[in-house]
Amino acid sequence: MRLSIIVRKIKDQQPEIGSPNWCRRNLAPGIDNASVFTSVCINTAIYLPWLIGQCRKTGVVFKRAVIKHVADAASLHHSGKKADVVVNCTGLSSRKLGGVNDDKLHPIRGQIVVVRNDPGAMFSISGTDDAEDEVTYMMTRAAGGGTVIGGSYQKDQWDPLPDPNLAVRIMKRAIALVPQLVGEGQGIEGLDVIRHGVGLRPFREDGPRIEADKVNGVSVVHNYGHGGFGYQASFGCAAEAVELVNGVLKQKGRAKL
Ligand SMILES: Cc1cc2nc3c(=O)[nH]c(=O)nc-3n(C[C@H](O)[C@H](O)[C@H](O)COP(=O)(O)OP(=O)(O)OC[C@H]3O[C@@H](n4cnc5c(N)ncnc54)[C@H](O)[C@@H]3O)c2cc1C
Repeated sequence: MRLSIIVRKIKDQQPEIGSPNWCRRNLAPGIDNASVFTSVCINTAIYLPWLIGQCRKTGVVFKRAVIKHVADAASLHHSGKKADVVVNCTGLSSRKLGGVNDDKLHPIRGQIVVVRNDPGAMFSISGTDDAEDEVTYMMTRAAGGGTVIGGSYQKDQWDPLPDPNLAVRIMKRAIALVPQLVGEGQGIEGLDVIRHGVGLRPFREDGPRIEADKVNGVSVVHNYGHGGFGYQASFGCAAEAVELVNGVLKQKGRAKL
């Protein structure tokens, strides 16, 4: 658990959100309010392999393949028999995947810099003056995963490569927000960069699609389109998808998951 601090500038304030007087006296000029709480930041490089281990423990068989049409997945069941139901969790690729072709999906490009520096808490601030689609936050990942500094929120941008100019803005904004990220008087040269990264958030108009479907006679349960909250929402969305799968299995007279 880590301390997290979210700061909201006066210019970004929404009138319906109150400003607690207790924190006002400690705020920098231009800042309207701040919230402090403890929170976690998972290290996905550790979390995802752990999830695979949990699945394997319960007997899940993993196979790798690139699928052109969602219905083709039914023929890949390890038993050699046709699967009763296919669960489609292909994220942004559901835009192009045959049998799905969901044009409500859009990439929201997020660029980050991962550094070894530790700001001591997690921080984010509403908006930046650099661009409407740029943001500022930093999160220190569990178990020595470094600090992720963000970022951007660029709708319909597919570029998978880091933009060096944006990287400089990201790093400068982080230091302006949390000067203790680097040594006294240092600028971005004080950041110990591990890597630059880009990810495309699988944003979907109308929200995630968690829905039972039938494609070319194959039962499909979709679970994709979670934008920038796929990890946070994963247990809830998976529970809903499992219910839908069980509904399909019940109709087919099969055992529940
Ligand atoms: C910069 C950034 C910051 C983020 N911050 C957060 C955060 O703080 N909290 C949070 O909860 N989320 C965050 N997210 C969002 C989160 O990463 C996504 O919501 C999540 O990864 C989506 O998971 P998914 O499994 O649905 O899709 P993906 O992770 O895209 O997985 C889809 C999988 O399907 C496979 N696949 C696709 N097409 C095919 C095919 N045709 N055949 C075979 N396999 C296929 C892919 O190989 C991939 O393994 C962030 C994302 C970015 C980019």
